[in-house]
Amino acid sequence: MGVNWTSRPDVSVCVPIYNEEDSVGPLHDVIVAALEPSGYSFEIVLVDDGSTDQTIPKLRCIAQDDPRVVIVRFRRNAGQTSAMQAGIDHACGRYIVTMDGDLQNDPADIPMMIDKLNEDYDLVVGWRVNRQDKLLSRKVPSKLANFLIGKMTGLPIRDNGCSLKVYRAEVIRRVPLYSDMHRFIPAMSVPMGARVAEVGVRHHARQFGESKYGLSRVLKVLLDLIVIKTLLIFSRRPMARFNGVASVAALVAVIAMLSIPAATPAVVPMTVAALAASLAAFLVLLGLATGLILQVEPRQHTGRLKT
Ligand code: UDP
Ligand code: MG
Repeated sequence: MGVNWTSRPDVSVCVPIYNEEDSVGPLHDVIVAALEPSGYSFEIVLVDDGSTDQTIPKLRCIAQDDPRVVIVRFRRNAGQTSAMQAGIDHACGRYIVTMDGDLQNDPADIPMMIDKLNEDYDLVVGWRVNRQDKLLSRKVPSKLANFLIGKMTGLPIRDNGCSLKVYRAEVIRRVPLYSDMHRFIPAMSVPMGARVAEVGVRHHARQFGESKYGLSRVLKVLLDLIVIKTLLIFSRRPMARFNGVASVAALVAVIAMLSIPAATPAVVPMTVAALAASLAAFLVLLGLATGLILQVEPRQHTGRLKT
């Protein structure tokens, strides 16, 4: 990726944007107003996720007037998570900030979140204390989802859906993002030993345009949660986990074999035994392969500590 490490800014603010023509101008203004007085050098990576309104011409004007603005463009709408990942891929900063492009998050919270990160965290998650969204279609499903995510992942974050987050670049680069997984970044970063903090942040009602999501998001989040849970279970000691499931399959194979003499027709337990034994062998090999893949993963230490 075209990262220019020589003029590396302190902060990269990454914003996915889809049909936000009225928000992008004020968005640039509020980010600059929040970060200029902070003393941090910064860049703003604006990712257009295939907008079909006047977003692109407006982004071009913004980038022409401000060399700190980088524009990344998707040819078609790929979704918020992919746009976020593209922003992170193109970001050069030491601290990476993600936020929404519809003015609901407030960049004035960023310096405070970086201060929190510097208390020795890897990831600081925003919590929309006074969330300005509809109660029934937004806040209630979100509370339920946060409760379930907390229970299933073991990380009791109050507001996984808040896009305003600050990361150490080297940590977020190691978290793979796909589907609608940006809501699970805190949980996905825990297996690599990331230290996560949550801080209250401001939240504003949407001023322009419309939300890009309906209630169907609830089902998507639930399905993603099952995927995440599976990933979390099998990414720790994968050989032991796969061997555990393989033992159950092997037990079924043994029981089926023992019942062959008494069974008529014998072909049923024979088939079950063959299938279960094959499954057991397959799972052992899968555990072995996963173990090897995880072993060649980069080391998880933070590098030399500056004293
Ligand atoms: N977004 C995007 N691609 C999409 C949907 C949304 O880049 O397919 C952006 C959108 O422009 C906004 C952010 O993601 O900057 C959050 O979207 P939205 O405000 O619709 O979500 P909500 O606040 O309703 O959860
Ligand atoms: Mg929004």
